[in-house]
Amino acid sequence: VVLSIGRVPELSVIELAGPELRLGAAVTQRTVQRSALAPPVLREALDHVGHVPTRNRGTVGGSVAFADPTAELPAVLLALGGSVRLRHRAAERVVPAAELFTGPFRTAMRPDELLIDVLVPVPARNDRWAFEQRHFRRHAKVCAVAGAAEDRSTVSLALAGVTDTPVLVPDAVALLHRVAEVGIDRARADVADAVVGLVTPNADPYGSTAYRRRLAVEATSAALRRLLHAARGWAAA
Ligand SMILES: Cc1cc2nc3c(=O)[nH]c(=O)nc-3n(C[C@H](O)[C@H](O)[C@H](O)COP(=O)(O)OP(=O)(O)OC[C@H]3O[C@@H](n4cnc5c(N)ncnc54)[C@H](O)[C@@H]3O)c2cc1C
Repeated sequence: VVLSIGRVPELSVIELAGPELRLGAAVTQRTVQRSALAPPVLREALDHVGHVPTRNRGTVGGSVAFADPTAELPAVLLALGGSVRLRHRAAERVVPAAELFTGPFRTAMRPDELLIDVLVPVPARNDRWAFEQRHFRRHAKVCAVAGAAEDRSTVSLALAGVTDTPVLVPDAVALLHRVAEVGIDRARADVADAVVGLVTPNADPYGSTAYRRRLAVEATSAALRRLLHAARGWAAA
């Protein structure tokens, strides 16, 4: 049995609901990309998802439920601390992104659950976010999504394409402070220490583990550099 959920009105909504943006599961990636309600980091990440024809058809819910370990949207959702609302005939539950992705192309969704919407916390006005992707060969891509509060008291850093699921880099506050202190070039070893252990891809024809580690360090460094560059804007403001 093939079911199309494309015309269910409840699944096609984009709206602000308090501090969160609610993206119906059937909303297309292209619609989100063009929505003024969507956080800029999410729109920027979607620029990298496939190409215009796939974004015209590909949905928010499809991308999240598909759980491709290299996918951009799940990594952004994880970095922003988002969640999904799942509905079963009898009940509903909200699952944080940090608990949703359980393996490559695997989620905590049960077979009888429908993903209703994706809930994205809207970043504070002065927060800064950066999305970077390194994609030296087709299919061997790594994404880094980084965000920081203006005073750098909270920093979020997520990677995709390094292991079975999108993953948060631990102790991102200390890492950003270190980069701010000595500059990204001198902090490269610190960035490598923070991310290299997270890179555990299965062997595949697109790139060795060493190669993905390099991509991860490059993407993470670029994202942190952008955050600090934005921080100069904070200082000037
Ligand atoms: C050429 C090409 C390039 C692409 N490049 C990228 C890329 O660079 N980055 C990237 O992230 N993705 C990429 N994709 C994937 C694409 O963006 C879509 O996310 C993906 O194909 C899923 O499509 P869909 O939304 O139509 O979902 P479907 O194909 O309809 O569904 C995908 C899976 O999710 C399940 N599902 C869908 N919606 C729900 C729901 N509401 N509740 C429960 N389960 C659900 C389906 O049953 C199915 O198992 C690419 C795809 C193509 C064809």
